[in-house]
This record gives sequence, structure tokens and C-alpha cells, in this order.
Amino acid sequence: MKKFLKNKKALPIIILVIAILVILFIIIFRYEVNVVKKRTPYVDDKENNTSNAEQQELAPENYEASVPIFMYHFILEDYGDNPDVENFMKPSTLEEQIKYIVDNNYQTIFESELGRLYKYTKPVALTFDDCFVYFYNNAFPLVKKYKVKVTLNLIYNYLNGENYLTDDQVKEMLDTGLVEIESHTLSHKELTTLSIEEQRKQILDSKKNFEEKFGVNLSTLCYPVGDYNEETINIVKEQYNFGLAMTGGVYHTNIHTNKYKIPRIYANRSMDINTFANYLKQSKVVIH
Ligand SMILES: [Zn+2]
Repeated sequence: MKKFLKNKKALPIIILVIAILVILFIIIFRYEVNVVKKRTPYVDDKENNTSNAEQQELAPENYEASVPIFMYHFILEDYGDNPDVENFMKPSTLEEQIKYIVDNNYQTIFESELGRLYKYTKPVALTFDDCFVYFYNNAFPLVKKYKVKVTLNLIYNYLNGENYLTDDQVKEMLDTGLVEIESHTLSHKELTTLSIEEQRKQILDSKKNFEEKFGVNLSTLCYPVGDYNEETINIVKEQYNFGLAMTGGVYHTNIHTNKYKIPRIYANRSMDINTFANYLKQSKVVIH
């Protein structure tokens, strides 16, 4: 070996071998860089796919959420001689509650967003059943003042009737983007007392009528007086994503797995702000 190294003729061969090794190293290194570079767009694509999927729907098993869904009826100071006193919430109480939501950074969501809760961290839903003109007079100004989202569960055949909302009032509220309407059927009959054909009419025709009249898409049926049976649910499933019940308590996606039996909290006249706040504290979204 020593002889070979001492041989001056061997020097070019050594240089050549080293040069070949260097070239080989550069080629291999560049190839590796290219492979890494090629992976980069793949990672980007994957991220894009994820966001596309999120825009559509994240599978319910990928997150769990607890959402207080408050149920209101009349927003009116004076309940007259009506026996259902608790159904009449004072406008000042509603304002106190909405202010609490805003001051504490809770996020109001529409009923139609109940399948997309992963987009929020502290969701709460304000839902108003029946919604006579009192909503327009006493609650709608608060909705605009505090810029909160609300869902009105309307009775189609009541529109433009005595003390009910007019088409124009509904359109005006929809135009703000803060108000969503969903179906509380055609005429607020207890669904389990009806034939299947009559139930179908109440549930499916109301959706079609609201959508045609106001150019909106409905996602939710709110059962009149919280009354439904398995036949009701089968019909609702045909065209709606959710069914809202009147059973109390906070909605937990991992406990209330049937989207057609979603519970709501009765926001009654005597509910104080501490009780309201305690429900709100349970609002939570966990992404797995
Ligand atoms: Zn009702």
C-alpha cells in the first residue's frame, strides 16, 4: 500500500476516485432534497383536505360538546290574566342575560349549527318558540343592539295573523343575518295526536312553505309542546337534521346522541342571572 501511495502515478487515480465519490454524494444529496421538496405539497394538500372536510362536517366522534340551548316563549313585561306566567319573560331579564353572554365572551349559535359545534369554544343557543309580535317589538331590538344570533321556531299558518309576525317583519329580521327561522310546524298541533298523514303535512309542508316564502333552508323541527313519538322522528329524519325537544338541561353531544331528541333549558320568567350563568359555565367544546 505504501508503495502504491508513494507511486506518483497513483495520485490521479486517487483524485479521480475522490471526485467520483463527491459527485455521487452530490447526486444522492440532491435526490434526497427533491424527495423532501416533493413531500411538502403533499403535506399542504393534506391540510387543504382537512379544512375542506371541516367546511363540510367534522364527524361527531371527532369532537364532543356541551351546549346550553335556552328556550324562550313570550318576551313581554305584562302577562295580563294569562295563567302561564313563567312563559312571559321580561324584556329587561332577556337583556340582562344577553349582556351576560356578550360580556363573558360566549358565542351564540343558530340551531342549524348544532352539527358544527367544533367551530366554537363557548357556544350557546338562544331559541324562541311560537314568536308572536312581542319578539319583534321587545327582543329583536336587543338582538341588534348586542349583535347576538337567535333562532325563531315559527308556526307557518300563524304568519300575518292576529298578534303574530308578518312576512315583512320576518324578512327584515332575516336580512340582519342575526336571525334564523326554523319550523315549529304548520299549526302547532300536538303531533302524537295526529295520523301519520297529518304529521307528515305538519312537519314536511311547513318546511317547504317556509323555504319557498323566505328563500331559506331549514334544518330543524321544534316539536310543539315537546310532543313527539317514533313515527314523528322517522318523518323528521327525512328532511331535517335536528329535532328539538323540551326536556330540560344542557345538550351534551356524547350523552344525547339522538339528534332528534335534543334537550333545551326552559328560560322562564323567574330564572335569575346566577342560574342562567351556571348553565352557561357548562358550555364547552373538546376536539379529539
Ligand atoms: Zn310552541
